[in-house]
Amino acid sequence: MKLIRFGEPGNEKPGLELTDGSRIDVSACCKDYDENFFATGGMEELEEWLKTNKENCPVVGNNVRLGPPIVRPSKIVCVGLNYAKHAEESGMAIPGEPVLFFKATSSITGPNDPVMLPKGGEKTDWEVELAVVIGKKASYVSKEEAMDFVAGYMIHNDISERAFQLEREGQWVKGKSCDTFAPIGPFLATKSEIADPHKLDLWLTVNGEKLQHSNTSDFIFDIPHVVSYISQFMTLLPGDIISTGTPFGVGLGFNPPKYLKAGDVMELGIEGLGVSRQEVIAFKKNA
Ligand code: ZN
Repeated sequence: MKLIRFGEPGNEKPGLELTDGSRIDVSACCKDYDENFFATGGMEELEEWLKTNKENCPVVGNNVRLGPPIVRPSKIVCVGLNYAKHAEESGMAIPGEPVLFFKATSSITGPNDPVMLPKGGEKTDWEVELAVVIGKKASYVSKEEAMDFVAGYMIHNDISERAFQLEREGQWVKGKSCDTFAPIGPFLATKSEIADPHKLDLWLTVNGEKLQHSNTSDFIFDIPHVVSYISQFMTLLPGDIISTGTPFGVGLGFNPPKYLKAGDVMELGIEGLGVSRQEVIAFKKNA
């Protein structure tokens, strides 16, 4: 299944994207795709319900806004420097174990919503990433059992303000958490939709120019490793997002670096996970 949420920001309803690309409203079956939905077997229930109710679901028009495919989760845990060539372009050593950082969940936005430059930000950058969504509570899980805790996958653009991330004191979180810095979607593909998550092409363009293009086969640490590793330090809850790192080709890596300005358009895609598109807009207070 491909889970979507649609409607105005803050008032989204749960839906599905069908194999022919059409979209249906499934709010008659479940309230929303939140922690409780994943924790209580909501996906299985929805699959069962569809067998008899699919034909009666209201159709969602193609012009209706898509929101983030899941309700704001308890956390976004990001893996830094998980592709060797990206570590190199960032001038950092290939890590001996996964580098982790947090991203505020308030930065989550819809897949095609605008990305707003932060106040005082001048080095805002793009990062196409495969995001893994957790399906059940995971604490001290082994690599062997780790995939049982995965609900599915989606695209994430891990937007980063490099000056806040790298030129200020303390942790990367400051450069990763601004409002609109986490466009996710267009949909959450459930695990069965993706035959091998370690063999997916991913790419990103800015104003039509392809700047990132790689494959998840280039991960330094694969998904079972990362899920197991994170669960040794914290409990992952249903709906939590793990963003698995970005490949070569971010703005920081160019000489001179390229950063986003208002009016730029980013498009990004991952094999089997669709495409998202964000226009960059200038900072405005209380947007
Ligand atoms: Zn990242």
